[in-house]
Amino acid sequence: MKFSQIYGNASVKRTLRGMADSGHVPHAILFYENDGCGALALGVAFLQYLNCKCRHGGDSCGECRDCNQISKLGHPDMHFTFPITSGTKVSGAVKDLTCSMFLPMWRELFAANPYFLENELAEALGFEKKAGAITVKEGGEILRKLSLSSVGDGWRGIFIYLPEKMNQQTANMLLKSLEEPAEKTIFILVTHSPESLLPTISSRCQLIRVMPLEVEEIESSLMDILGGGSDGHFDGGPSPSLISQAATLSAGSLGAALQMINDSGDVSLYDELFHSLIDRIKDNDLSGALEVADALVGLDSRERQKAFCIYAGACVRKLFFATREEEISMSGITPQERQWYVAAASSLNPKFPEAAQTILTRSVGMLERNVLQKIIFCNMVTRLFVAARKR
Ligand SMILES: [Zn+2]
Repeated sequence: MKFSQIYGNASVKRTLRGMADSGHVPHAILFYENDGCGALALGVAFLQYLNCKCRHGGDSCGECRDCNQISKLGHPDMHFTFPITSGTKVSGAVKDLTCSMFLPMWRELFAANPYFLENELAEALGFEKKAGAITVKEGGEILRKLSLSSVGDGWRGIFIYLPEKMNQQTANMLLKSLEEPAEKTIFILVTHSPESLLPTISSRCQLIRVMPLEVEEIESSLMDILGGGSDGHFDGGPSPSLISQAATLSAGSLGAALQMINDSGDVSLYDELFHSLIDRIKDNDLSGALEVADALVGLDSRERQKAFCIYAGACVRKLFFATREEEISMSGITPQERQWYVAAASSLNPKFPEAAQTILTRSVGMLERNVLQKIIFCNMVTRLFVAARKR
């Protein structure tokens, strides 16, 4: 993977390039990102840049043997550790499992989508509902690999994806190596939760923040990845409005935007539910609104219920702009949709969008705390109903 194949984060690329060009390569780098912003891809591109003997124009060549092997995550001096557990694809006692048993699935997932999310990794490795961990056995594997010499004469990369998933014992095993790794060996760690990482680990690494992408960057990346033509026509791909919706709702995570498009059936369902909820609230029809609450209770997982609340939050922002008769800040919105928002905004209390944001955020919090769904959604809909009344 070349730097130029990664979307966004130009300044991170510059920093990494600078390290390699100046010869000041740290022992260990900790990339910190929100899930799906491309940190793993940046780590791979960095190792590729370090090892490519035909670098040019500030990038690896992408064609030599090292480049080829690294971009397929198949270089002999490249090692991967990530959270695992027993599942449908690799079974057995957890204490006996190592990441090497999961490598084919890991490589396949990265090749298909280098911006994959944590839940997509669990799915690809066959243990969706269970939490993976970096075990003591795997810690031992890392030490064993470090004790062997490199196969080639280039840089060796020890990748640890989600180091926050290792326990104290495993972390302790790695401290010495993290501090003084073997010559031409670099640890590349990717975390989504630096605050839950043991300080003994993070203090030994150079921290690099991988930033969320801008909405426009996500839009153009999605069009690039999903094959949108420059003239705005899509051959069977997602519609421009779905792309712009996913870009707006993804909070800067290209991985999240891609997942949203894959689950776009859900997006239209959320859209329908939001519209019917607001229509009933507008018509002063509380029992109708509570029927929508029942439909929300009926969504089959808390994840989807949370996704609805987040989606509804984004729609409420459009209502906010509509109440102020400002240009609705959403490219790709149809004229009918715009009309609906303006009409809805004019019949609701002007303070509704603000109150609704608070109510939706509170519902997400309750979903995370495992409060009974029936209570959450009756409460949410009733509060929205009250907040919408003009005084
Ligand atoms: Zn090369």
